[in-house]
Amino acid sequence: MSVPAFTFHRGIHPPSKKDQTAGEAVKKLVPPAGTEMIFPMLQHIGAPCEPAVSVGERVLLGQVIGSAEKPISSPVHSSVSGIVKEIRQALTPTGVVCSAVVVVNDGKDEGIKTTRAHTVSETLDREETLKLIRQAGVVGLGGAGFPTHIKLSPPPGRHIDTVIVNAAECEPYLTTDHRVLLEDTERLIAGLEIILTLFPNAQGIIGIETNKQDAIDKIEKAVREKKRISVAGLRPKYPQGAEKQLIYALTGREVPSGGLPADIGCLVDNVDTVIAVERAVHRKRPLIRRIITINGGAVKNPGNYEVRLGMTYGDFARAAGGFTTQPYKLISGGPMMGVAMFSLDVPVIKTSSAFLCLTEEEARLPSERGCIRCGRCADYCPARLMPLDLNKYVIYGEKDLFLENHGLDCIECGSCSYVCPSKRHLAQSIRAARREALAARK
Ligand code: SF4
Ligand code: SF4
Repeated sequence: MSVPAFTFHRGIHPPSKKDQTAGEAVKKLVPPAGTEMIFPMLQHIGAPCEPAVSVGERVLLGQVIGSAEKPISSPVHSSVSGIVKEIRQALTPTGVVCSAVVVVNDGKDEGIKTTRAHTVSETLDREETLKLIRQAGVVGLGGAGFPTHIKLSPPPGRHIDTVIVNAAECEPYLTTDHRVLLEDTERLIAGLEIILTLFPNAQGIIGIETNKQDAIDKIEKAVREKKRISVAGLRPKYPQGAEKQLIYALTGREVPSGGLPADIGCLVDNVDTVIAVERAVHRKRPLIRRIITINGGAVKNPGNYEVRLGMTYGDFARAAGGFTTQPYKLISGGPMMGVAMFSLDVPVIKTSSAFLCLTEEEARLPSERGCIRCGRCADYCPARLMPLDLNKYVIYGEKDLFLENHGLDCIECGSCSYVCPSKRHLAQSIRAARREALAARK
């Protein structure tokens, strides 16, 4: 059945590059015995975890190895059984260096014993549900990594009436959400139902771009009898999956500058986060794996893989079949918002979503030229900013003007850089200035 397609103002249409992997079922990668797994203590927004194990100690699959005592934090669990080899500083795909626990996998996958899991029909109270989500280390897996138990506890006075599952997956190359929608439909719906128990007056909407019609059809059929859940089609456009743009497309409401979705009654979680909530609450399973798209001209077997957290991108690439040629550029995430990596010895973490290994032909950037004041960057900016001006303020160190002209409202989508005929590094400069300003506020 076709559904109306909603959208937001402006945005762009980059080539989707999804055909190669959208039809590929998710394959599980099991790290072989002897693999060194690296578990950074900071895989979320908030305070880093403290290592909860010692060098030489044997750990079990699912065991807490990073404890989160601070209010805004999230525990880290081992994704294998094995011996703690060392605790050292390690680089994460986001460019952060932090303390990390290194475990040598013994290949036995011996797990911790859990008490009885909860069945779907069992009713937990709000505090019990949030406690299970926190204990499982669930964070926003759409990229931000904000602890989910906190997101599901909006400040007093905010009344959530709409819970949105973000299944837009608008970035080129990425197809993991598409596969999960098709392959894990029941668990996704069960996860959304758990979240809806926390907000008794809310409706759940699963927003899916209409370029995933098979997923729309399958989910629509599955929720037909559900009174509190519906499916909404979204017009394929980038950045349709950005939180503010998604909320506007589905509800017509605008998140105020500097505000939160909860301020306008909305809460957004991505597909994999909702699945992680189901696993945490119904099965007491910690977050120890991610489904990741690997693609790009240098990859031998592009596809979707379930990867254990802690596995390095190098081990992941080898297990997935390796490279056909030396990659020119490695990106953790999509081509629009991902982070370039200079090493393969970086571990997959909770917020990893895609791994692009691009050839020189795919990744080479033209050199930057002078602005011709054509206005295209402003015409396409979904946040209605003036990227050319913000870029100028960054270049001339005009921090006050950057803030006065709403530089912090940039969602770092990269649309301005994409459409600029002079290939100016607009998004890159605005992103750097924005992060510096946010860091200075802490
Ligand atoms: S798109 Fe590029 S060239 Fe055109 S106004 Fe913006 S910065 Fe200048
Ligand atoms: S200024 Fe920010 S929000 Fe606007 S197009 Fe550029 S990166 Fe996207």
